Parts: sequence; structure tokens; C-alpha cells
Amino acid sequence: MSFDLTPTIAQHDLARRTHEFAEEVVRPVAREYDQRQEFPWPVLEEAAARGFYSPLFYRDLIGDPTGLSLPMFMEELFWGCAGIGLAIVMPALALSAIGQAATPEQMLQWAPECFGTPGDLKLAALAISEPEGGSDVRNLRTTARRDGDDWIIDGHKMWIGNGGIANVHVVNAVVDQELGHRGQALFIVPGGTPGLELVRKLDKLGCRASHTAELKFHGVRVPGANLLGGQDKLDHKLAKAREIVEGAKHSGSATLGTFEQTRPMVAAQALGIARAALEYVTEYANRREAFGRPIIANQGIAFPLADLATKIDAARLLTWRASWMAATGVPFERGEGSMSKLMASETAVETTERAIQTMGGWGYISDHPVEKWYRDAKLYTIFEGTSEIQRVVISHALGAADGAPPMHVDLEPTGGPFNAMFGRGTPARTRAADRAMSLRERVPRPVMQMAMKVLQPPRR
Ligand SMILES: Cc1cc2nc3c(=O)[nH]c(=O)nc-3n(C[C@H](O)[C@H](O)[C@H](O)COP(=O)(O)OP(=O)(O)OC[C@H]3O[C@@H](n4cnc5c(N)ncnc54)[C@H](O)[C@@H]3O)c2cc1C
Repeated sequence: MSFDLTPTIAQHDLARRTHEFAEEVVRPVAREYDQRQEFPWPVLEEAAARGFYSPLFYRDLIGDPTGLSLPMFMEELFWGCAGIGLAIVMPALALSAIGQAATPEQMLQWAPECFGTPGDLKLAALAISEPEGGSDVRNLRTTARRDGDDWIIDGHKMWIGNGGIANVHVVNAVVDQELGHRGQALFIVPGGTPGLELVRKLDKLGCRASHTAELKFHGVRVPGANLLGGQDKLDHKLAKAREIVEGAKHSGSATLGTFEQTRPMVAAQALGIARAALEYVTEYANRREAFGRPIIANQGIAFPLADLATKIDAARLLTWRASWMAATGVPFERGEGSMSKLMASETAVETTERAIQTMGGWGYISDHPVEKWYRDAKLYTIFEGTSEIQRVVISHALGAADGAPPMHVDLEPTGGPFNAMFGRGTPARTRAADRAMSLRERVPRPVMQMAMKVLQPPRR
């Protein structure tokens, strides 16, 4: 599947329906949920009623061979409100982790438990980060040890979306200390399992409609069947890890690059916030007058907005490219997932900050949504890999590439033999054009016009 920016009819319709939902259902209540820092259950119910809260919906979008459905959906939803957006898509993050690790039977068992059904909604959480280790997953200390047929989990997790209120917690734990980050495995811990403690709901700067928590695991016992992927797969993985560790092979950016494929999804969320702010503030700058003219007539106001419009489009192109790569299996050899997340999140912070500045005093108070968007955007340079970690991944890739040319140079070309011989820019084509030009006096005009039609750039 080649990279194409044209949406399919289904993608177009998905973006339209999501935007409608964001505009009619999410935006009107965004401020209220932000201020009360309350979980938006009624909005989740409406999302479910409209088909945006189901495992099959997300599996379908993840499976889209163009890769564009998921970022289109995310951008429109998060245009409405990032806090509510996170509350809606959090189970999809957990589902994505389950999808990467689980057996088909485990997937069938747990995917429905992550979402529930309209009227009986369920929640899921992905619990990786710990107080001592967010960026550095090698530093994780939560452990899982075998006890008969069961596993016993002990540890401490921090900043966990839906933590403690989820029906399904996907928990990362160390099963072999000596193997470092390679000795970790994922477990399902159902909500309410004895020993799983919700220590506290965290009080956040932004994205306040989403629930984020500190968790403790005190001897949490789960059956062997809750080890994602199963025992045989884990044994195989650990054996391979031992070979690598004993061979002292350099692990390079493998750990930090683990989330490369999910980063474009988060990038698309940041884009939604940035776009919301740019649209809002442009309208404001067109209407607000100072010194007898709209403030947008001042280059000091208009040029930064022009720069941001450019950055938002650049970030979207990076995001769609990374999503397309993930969908088509093009390897992320140059940190392309990180590039999308870095650019989109930094642009979101810059855009929302500029939106406040453009609105002056009105931007600083909660009568307008831009101060909220600024608080929401800031999360995006922190979670799912901080901006610094994205730069680490990109610079490692840059170093490993050792001056190699950009990705498209390495991609398998499309087009077939006719394209190879007579495609645009080929010597045969140029020679034919030169020959036609040299014969132009002798060739009948209609034949010449026909030849030129073939050679000229396509007209719309
Ligand atoms: C609202 C919120 C929701 C979250 N949701 C989840 C969730 O659902 N599940 C989950 O598992 N986690 C979640 N997280 C955790 C998040 O992923 C981590 O906070 C993030 O990875 C950063 O880790 P840290 O906070 O430990 O910072 P640290 O890793 O301690 O980093 C501190 C600073 O040092 C910098 N730094 C670290 N290493 C390097 C380096 N090698 N080079 C340069 N700079 C470096 C970082 O960029 C950062 O600026 C969430 C966090 C927040 C705030």
C-alpha cells in the first residue's frame, strides 16, 4: 500500500462523525469536567452509543492498511477535549499492549473486558511507569514470581491512566532481575484483585477529566493464564535474552524505541489540541480590534500564527507517515515514530501558548478554553516518552544510520517495468521529448499536440 494523503470515503466519514461527536457532545462539557476533575461517564456512554468505544472499532482502525484512520480519529476526538479524549481511548492503549503480547485466546477473553457494552461500560489501564522509572524502563522494580500455577506481583506504579478503577490492568513486571529490561513480562490484573491498592487519584495540571492514579501491588495473586503470551513464549523470550546478555550485545535504542509504533497515535492527539487552539485564536484575532483594526492585521500577531499553521501541517505529515509505516510494516529505522511525537507535542505546547498570548488577558482566564488547552498540551511533551527521550531515539537512529540518505531512498519502488523504462524523468522519456521537439516543424500539428499532452504535467 503506497502512501496516499487522499482519505477513503470511510475515513472521510469517520473524521466527520468524530468531529460531530467532539463538537456536539465533548466540547460543551469539557470545561465542567476539567474544573471538577471528574471522570466523564456520560460522555463515554455516548461514545459507546456512537460506536467509538469498542474493541472491534479499535482493532478495525489498527488494521487499516493505509494507517490513516486511527490518527484521523484521534485528531478529531482530541480537538474536542484531550482529558475526555484520554478517558475514551485509554482502553485502546491497553488493548494495543494486549494485542502485541497475548495469545488469540487471551485476546478473545480480555478485549471485551476492556470496554464492556453500552449501559455496562468497563475500563482498562496500561501500568508501566513507576515512581523511580518512567523514561528508563530498565529501572522498573515491580516483580512477578511464580508460586505453583499462579504469579505473585509486588510493586508500585505511578501515573496510571484508569489505574485502580479499571476492570483490566495490563501490568509490566520483572520476572528475571538479571536480564534487566529484557526480563520483563505483561500480566492481566483484574480490578478488585486482593492486594491491588489504589493509593490515590492524582491531582493534575491538565487533561483533568481523565483518571490518573498511583497504585501499589501487595502480593497480588493472578493465575498463570494471566501471563500474556503464555509460559512457553516467556521461556523462549528469556532464553533469547540470556543469549543476548551473555553475548553482551549492545541493546542500543531497542528499549527506548519500544513504543515507536504507538507514538503517532499520541502525536495525533496533540495535533487535535494544536488545531483547536489555532482555529479558535485565528477567529479571535480576526474579530478583536486594537488601535482601530483587527489585531491579525499586525504581523506580530499574524506571522507566529502562520508559522504554527506550517508546523501543524508538518507534524500531521510526520504523524501520518509514521502511522502508514506502522500499518505497512516499514521499519522505523530513523526514529520516525519519535519524530512525529516530538514535533506534534512541541507544536501543541507552542500553539496553545501563542493562543494565550494572542488573546491577551482573555487568554489567561477560563472564560475561553485556551488556558485549558495549554495545560492539556503540556502532558504531551511528557508521557509516552518525554521530548528528550524522543530526541534520544532519533539521535541514536541518526548515529546508527551513519550519514545514510532518507527513508524513501531505501523503500522498495513501485510502478513496474513500464515505469522503469518510460516513467517521468527516465532518459528514454527525455530523449523522446527532445526528438519530438527537434522534429516539431516536420510533424503534423495534431500529432505534436498529442505528444505534448503525454509529456506535460497533469492538469486539473
Ligand atoms: C498525566 C499522566 C498520565 C500518564 N499515564 C501513564 C499510563 O497510563 N501508564 C504508564 O505506564 N505511564 C503513564 N505516565 C507516565 C509517563 O509515561 C512518565 O511520566 C514519563 O515516561 C516520564 O517519566 P518520569 O516521569 O519518570 O520522568 P524521568 O524519566 O524521571 O525524567 C525526568 C526528566 O529527565 C529527562 N531525561 C530522562 N532520561 C533522559 C536522557 N537519557 N536524556 C535526556 N533527558 C532525560 C526527561 O526527559 C525528563 O525531562 C503518565 C504520566 C502523566 C503525567
